[in-house]
Amino acid sequence: PETLLDIRNLSVDFRTARGRVKALRDITFPVSKGRIMGIVGESGSGKSTVLWSILGLLAGNAEVMGGEILFQDDDMLRMGPTAMRATRGEDISVVFQDPMTSQIPVLNYARQMFDILYRRRNMTKAEKRKAAVEMMRKVGIPDPESRIDQYPHHFSGGMRQRAGIAMALLTGPKLLLADEPTTALDVTMEAQIINLLRELQSDLEATIVLVSHNLGLIAELCDDVVVMYAGEVVEVGTVHEIFHNAQHPYTRALLECDPARISDVSRKLPVIPGDIPDLTKPQQGCIFASRCQRRMPECRTVEPPKAMRASGGYANCHLLEGPLRDPDWPPPLDV
Ligand code: SF4
Ligand code: MG
Repeated sequence: PETLLDIRNLSVDFRTARGRVKALRDITFPVSKGRIMGIVGESGSGKSTVLWSILGLLAGNAEVMGGEILFQDDDMLRMGPTAMRATRGEDISVVFQDPMTSQIPVLNYARQMFDILYRRRNMTKAEKRKAAVEMMRKVGIPDPESRIDQYPHHFSGGMRQRAGIAMALLTGPKLLLADEPTTALDVTMEAQIINLLRELQSDLEATIVLVSHNLGLIAELCDDVVVMYAGEVVEVGTVHEIFHNAQHPYTRALLECDPARISDVSRKLPVIPGDIPDLTKPQQGCIFASRCQRRMPECRTVEPPKAMRASGGYANCHLLEGPLRDPDWPPPLDV
């Protein structure tokens, strides 16, 4: 499949009062066109930072230390602000976690959607309204001709997120980013939004990058999965590989803590015993070593090799490749 977005060796620091936090280290993964990529990890794993890096919307104390984010072969990290804004307005859009804080409370949806289409100088106001109404209908908002004149506070949480998705899709973006898009919703609404995203994805052949700490949501919705831990990617694979043939001890720990693991969207990430490394300190060896049940002495000092999968995915662990390889790892997953 064609690669739409290619993240290569991305490293990002945050300057904080505690010192420099190495928030992302050497993040590498491709996103294939027309697929849904899920990024899963605990809070603080850096998954949202990856998303904001793609959008060029990192906080002011962030510093990109290296790498590339290639979108249709342009490096987003080296794009000027004008080109970046244009790309963000047309080709890449985002669905936020909490529509109440990302939508403009004093503007009705018609007005917010006109503003999104401001670059379409060849469209009349009536055409823009029609396009907006059609998009609201597509995301399942009933009676969109009249509801488009309402304000965010008139909408229920689920309807507000549907409106957020309609706004994100209005320009026909090639890439849709979603940061925990169902976290603010109850389980019923969450399931509806998941179904909607899946429908839209197959209808519009959109490419989606979805960030979530919800393993069930990732299993339900995604084609490919990136597993992040403490600012690094530890494993990449297809959804089937991650849930049925996980290679990395961290991914194994996430799955094994939770036997009823597939497709339960109300399930959250399990807690794994041990400490998350202090990312203000230089890291040596394997990032997961402080919590890994399979840790060997070398894991503390020697960086683990990348064990490639035939599918193009990979996992970073000494058990999988090199002199410390264990032919009995990973044990079969009993699914
Ligand atoms: Fe565990 Fe060592 Fe593999 Fe890291 S490299 S995940 S510490 S076995
Ligand atoms: Mg987050």
